[in-house]
Amino acid sequence: MKTNHIRIKDLQEVDILRKAGKILSLIIGQIKGSLTAGMTTKDIDTQAQALMQQYGVKPAFKGYRGFPANICVSVNEGVVHGIPNGRIIRNGDIVSVDVGIIYDDYYSDTAVTIPIGPVNPQIQKLLEVSEAALYKGIEQARAGQHLSDISYAVQSYVQMHGFSVVRDFVGHGIGRQLHEDPEIPNYGSPHQGPVLKEGMVLAIEPMVNMGGHRTKVLSDGWTVVTEDGKPSVHFEHCVLITFKEAEILTR
Ligand code: MG
Repeated sequence: MKTNHIRIKDLQEVDILRKAGKILSLIIGQIKGSLTAGMTTKDIDTQAQALMQQYGVKPAFKGYRGFPANICVSVNEGVVHGIPNGRIIRNGDIVSVDVGIIYDDYYSDTAVTIPIGPVNPQIQKLLEVSEAALYKGIEQARAGQHLSDISYAVQSYVQMHGFSVVRDFVGHGIGRQLHEDPEIPNYGSPHQGPVLKEGMVLAIEPMVNMGGHRTKVLSDGWTVVTEDGKPSVHFEHCVLITFKEAEILTR
């Protein structure tokens, strides 16, 4: 767990991060509202690019370690880092859309998994449990708590419902960089790691698998899928740590 240099944001930075989060929530809201069967994952990327231009922000992922697209789109067994392509989205699919932006030199990052039409009841349950798990984590994200209280809350809620959390990818601090310290695993014992302080900004992002927790990377070098081919879901918010409930910047 990398926790060495957790930056406390000053008021001016918090103000910028609030604006960045607001813009990002508008962008992902519009993507969510227009996503339908028949679109390709590349269509979502094109729309995201247009929305980012409209709001005057830059895509955070494009070129990041060579990532070739504006956003990540991961369908069904896709966990994270899916490269948008010609794949056609069909009814019954679940589509994880992960969007990062740069606004005024600051980063914001959010993800949501969107069901296309009615999905089977077990997938519906996976969606509900995973989104609730994100909020269980956010409940623990307050000044005075330990970092791993977030991890433990996410993992225990997910496992109580018979699903598993991905170990290979974790949440992160965010601000002047897309990925700042600390790393935030979605698993672990409570009361470990650094104590959270007012002014930290964290991207909390449970990735939850219907089957086993293991993942593999496809030959494109990016797209992460579940090893057992079962569905996976991803929800992410950036939050500001305070002495009370965390402020969700990307809502
Ligand atoms: Mg992230």
